[in-house]
Amino acid sequence: MERAELIKALKDRFESDAFLGAASLPIAAPAAAQSSSATTANAKPPTTPVHRAPIAADEIERRRVALQVIDDNEVKGCTQCCLSETRTKTAFGVGAPNARIMFVGEAPGHDEDIQGEPFVGKAGQLLTKMIEAGMGLKRSDVYICNVLKCRPPNNRNPAPDEVIACRNFLWRQIEIVQPEVIIALGAPAAQTLLNTREGIGRLRSQWHDFHLSGTPGVGDPIPLMPTYHPAYLLRSPGEKNKAWSDLKMVMTRLSLPLPAR
Ligand code: SF4
Repeated sequence: MERAELIKALKDRFESDAFLGAASLPIAAPAAAQSSSATTANAKPPTTPVHRAPIAADEIERRRVALQVIDDNEVKGCTQCCLSETRTKTAFGVGAPNARIMFVGEAPGHDEDIQGEPFVGKAGQLLTKMIEAGMGLKRSDVYICNVLKCRPPNNRNPAPDEVIACRNFLWRQIEIVQPEVIIALGAPAAQTLLNTREGIGRLRSQWHDFHLSGTPGVGDPIPLMPTYHPAYLLRSPGEKNKAWSDLKMVMTRLSLPLPAR
């Protein structure tokens, strides 16, 4: 292996270890160093960076209330599909109503069904490490939800009729939060949001457009980055470099500082 390749492989390894929450690797860089790494670590800027003006406090509160009303009045008592018969609690969504990044998974699992909050089990703990140790954000800075708000029995994949019944809630969450970027975690989420049957291996690592209207050209698209679901990364840690690479593309597009190495 050439020296440059060896250095790159070591760098990727250190970064992805940190991404998965390995202890003691310093993530944060001084502000000045972070700025410079954000501009130099991305050899191929993918697309136009996303920026938006700060959102006023009363607008943030309006969004928080709008989300709460949907959860309290529609989701918690929802019986629109058969999953209402087997769930313990619905898990609507959690995080900032003005989040720049929205993470969307497929459905609650066992722990989420018990606690009524998305991504709180082992996969959720890994997602939190990805957000905090990897991306340098707080979990409360982003918005986290799933396509389905109720757990499918034995964590099976969402059925098409369940997705059709439930996706209206997700669309409304996106409409209210107005994220600058959506990160779709795993194939079911990416396929639902992009209306495709393409596999996650082909979808990830490139930008897609999510159209809230369902029609390209109608309304502004939201940039969407598919990546692997944290549950898959727990089973296949060899793929963590790829997921970290996807998150770095998001950070670059949002002008967030990349970890310095
Ligand atoms: S999965 Fe969605 S549509 Fe089905 S019962 Fe739960 S909230 Fe309603």
